[in-house]
Amino acid sequence: MTWLTRLIAIIALAATTVAAQTKVTPPKNKYTPEQDVQIGREAAAEVREQYPLINDSQIRNYLERLGDRLVEAAPAELNHRAFDYSFTPVNLKDINAFALPGGPMFVNRGMIEAARGEGEVAGVMAHELAHVLLRHGTANATKQQGFQIGAIAGAIAGAVIGGGLGEIISQGSQFGLGTWMLKYSRDYEKQADLLGAQIMARAGYDPRDLAHMFETIQKQGGGGAPQWLSSHPNPGNRTQYINAEAAQLRVGPRPSDSGFQQVRSRFNSLPPARTMAEMERSGGRSGEGGTVSVGRVGEAVPPPARQYRTVQGGQLFQAQVPSNWQAVSSNNSVKYVPQNAYGEYRGQVTLTHGVELGVARASSRDLNQATQALVDGFLRSNEGMQLAAQQQGGRLANRTAIRTPLIGNSALGGRERVDVYTTMLANGDLFYVLTVVPEQELGNYGAAFNRVVQSVRLSDR
Ligand SMILES: [Zn+2]
Repeated sequence: MTWLTRLIAIIALAATTVAAQTKVTPPKNKYTPEQDVQIGREAAAEVREQYPLINDSQIRNYLERLGDRLVEAAPAELNHRAFDYSFTPVNLKDINAFALPGGPMFVNRGMIEAARGEGEVAGVMAHELAHVLLRHGTANATKQQGFQIGAIAGAIAGAVIGGGLGEIISQGSQFGLGTWMLKYSRDYEKQADLLGAQIMARAGYDPRDLAHMFETIQKQGGGGAPQWLSSHPNPGNRTQYINAEAAQLRVGPRPSDSGFQQVRSRFNSLPPARTMAEMERSGGRSGEGGTVSVGRVGEAVPPPARQYRTVQGGQLFQAQVPSNWQAVSSNNSVKYVPQNAYGEYRGQVTLTHGVELGVARASSRDLNQATQALVDGFLRSNEGMQLAAQQQGGRLANRTAIRTPLIGNSALGGRERVDVYTTMLANGDLFYVLTVVPEQELGNYGAAFNRVVQSVRLSDR
């Protein structure tokens, strides 16, 4: 062979290697990668608030190195510049890991302890990374009809692996996770497996470790999670197609040992890991029934920060809130609340300070009538609440709006001031902003509430 024919042979070989790997194409998505990042960042802030994170630097660095190596092996065309990766270990026993849109990834200690070796951890992380790269969270949201603000913020979609998912779903309110999220996850699961296998191979890991890890998850985590099983592909099938893909891939040079065993023994220095269920039962950081709490209601609430941050409610709204307020999402609304202002208090879920932005099904296309119906419902469900003054016309997001000032009994004792701002959305739903604060603190919150209300931008038309 001349050098030229040899070169051609090499090129041809390289071409077949590439052609043999399954091409994975991101599903339709009406969001931008920047929105993925924004959504993921807000959800990650909630996760960091709720979950027992591991702060040990050796474990953190290990996970970061492993994550970075996988990101480097990701196909460039899927690796959007805006993505903001992080890899955070969590001190939970459940064999679980999940990634949020735009890059934040959380890996349970239980997952690392269940793995036979680094390749299996890399496998799960590569699968999670594939969900991020393919933007499955917002692709899921794209398929939804209407506005699902909180649900989108909570779309840690398809991203959860392992036996813990049932528990996470039962905490639906916490992340605004709905079953809609799982409906299409089969296709996406297969996509994430295939792309994950390709990334693994490029990073120097045997993709068959991924299939093996799924078998472990199935064995150890399957029992309590029928929902997980029903919405994920048959594991036998899964092992088959992952191994078939693996056979087509060339595995890059194996990375040098980066301390898997040391990290495992390092776990012994940590407080024992609990399961998600144990964490919830003991009140942990999330309250009963999975109600999220932001601090502890009844304790001192810090004043609104002078700095503001811009928040995004799915594709529907943008607003500015004091930088020390945290998002709490549900399907149709997002609350932004200071520390100690939201959670269970004397047997009731209570919001004492903060704002809620949301969508309500309107009873009428007429703003006055729709507002009236909303306020009536609100009065019915809040004993002692009444109009504080005349309703006023005004503007919200450059639209005709109504402001309804209310006064009621604060759960903390004393009176609280509630203002509801309403305007119509293009689809006939009602958009509202609700502000709440104990009456005697209104002076400290007036400016912050005004800024929130004035900063609202709607993008429904
Ligand atoms: Zn998955």
